[in-house]
Amino acid sequence: MDLELDDYGFDTLAIRAGQHRTAEGEHSEPIFPTSSYVFANAAEAAARFAGSQPGNIYSRFTNPTVRTFEQRLAALEGGISCVATASGMAAILATCLGLLKQGDHLVSSRAVFGTTTVLFSTYLARCGIETSYVPLADLDAWKAAIRPNTRMLFIETPSNPLTELGDIRALAVLAHAHDCLLVVDNCFCTPALQRPLELGADIVIHSATKYLDGQGRCVGGAVVGDAERVGKDVYGFLRTCGPTLSPFNAWVFLKGLETLSLRMRAHSANALALATWLEMHPAVTRVYYPGLASHPQHALAARQQRDFGGIVSFEVRGGQQAAWKVIDATRMLSITANLGDVKSTITHPATTTHGRLTPEQRADAGITDGLIRVAVGLEDIADIRADLARGLD
Ligand SMILES: *Cc1c(COP(=O)(O)O)cnc(C)c1O
Repeated sequence: MDLELDDYGFDTLAIRAGQHRTAEGEHSEPIFPTSSYVFANAAEAAARFAGSQPGNIYSRFTNPTVRTFEQRLAALEGGISCVATASGMAAILATCLGLLKQGDHLVSSRAVFGTTTVLFSTYLARCGIETSYVPLADLDAWKAAIRPNTRMLFIETPSNPLTELGDIRALAVLAHAHDCLLVVDNCFCTPALQRPLELGADIVIHSATKYLDGQGRCVGGAVVGDAERVGKDVYGFLRTCGPTLSPFNAWVFLKGLETLSLRMRAHSANALALATWLEMHPAVTRVYYPGLASHPQHALAARQQRDFGGIVSFEVRGGQQAAWKVIDATRMLSITANLGDVKSTITHPATTTHGRLTPEQRADAGITDGLIRVAVGLEDIADIRADLARGLD
């Protein structure tokens, strides 16, 4: 069942890449819940440990179900190597500690996932790795932030919750001119909508917890890139330091990948319909969605992405009180900060995901008190609209 990957399209790879059928002839991918593997004899054990014979030793190093997920995601992102991790944060940690060292400098876009900035500013800082933050869309600010010891540029695009875009092609050129790696957290688009490696990025990071799972069941992550940096350096960190993905979670993500592009197209269609409706609503002062012609980077989004994704943010008149009223009036949407689920979720960023920022930092980031984020799911769009209309009308 080993496909010649170059010969197949995205949806075929999403369903079949990486599967190695066993002698049992199973149709669906098996789960291998085993911590270690048995050798035929002492000499084989010695050869495996010495690295002179390939094969499984221990599931912190390799596991067949995890490997199937890694090979499938690598095929979808167009990468050579993929390393699966216990969470999205473990993927970011493994990338940074596998590739950076004391004295190195990292430039990150300001609007990355909140816990990512804690990882950079608290834990990487303790290892002597310094981080500077710049506005995602301001290429001059990126240029100005690069120092002789800068080794990595890190972005998420589109950003959360304001759906600002980073120009992956331009940032890759800048990174490579300064001997830096461009790392893209591709959580919001997934390879179904955006393939950063094709645009010049060196490494792609995923929180598989979100759209790769797609139904809010498991926590996991992955790093995709080349054989040297990902296959050797990031993998080396992982097998030693240990935040590996469980085979059960890998299996759930495999099943998620099978429907990835269908789901991402459906999320995008629902999100565009919702954003278009919100833009016409008199109680809404501003809508943030890259698929709207009014989005300042709509042209870049159309060029860089295959579709516009499932995250829509909007501002209501009347600040926090009005925003909470819209959230509390819903009966169907889930009030939770998670995203990438078939269930639509609604969040008030100023008092949850961005609640620990000072009012000045929030203002800087554009997170106003009237801002609401909806991660648009796959329910009937009429029901999603009606649920929001309860508080907006
Ligand atoms: C959720 C998220 C993460 C962290 O992933 P976990 O699986 O929760 O560890 C990283 N980046 C982005 C963009 C996320 O949304």
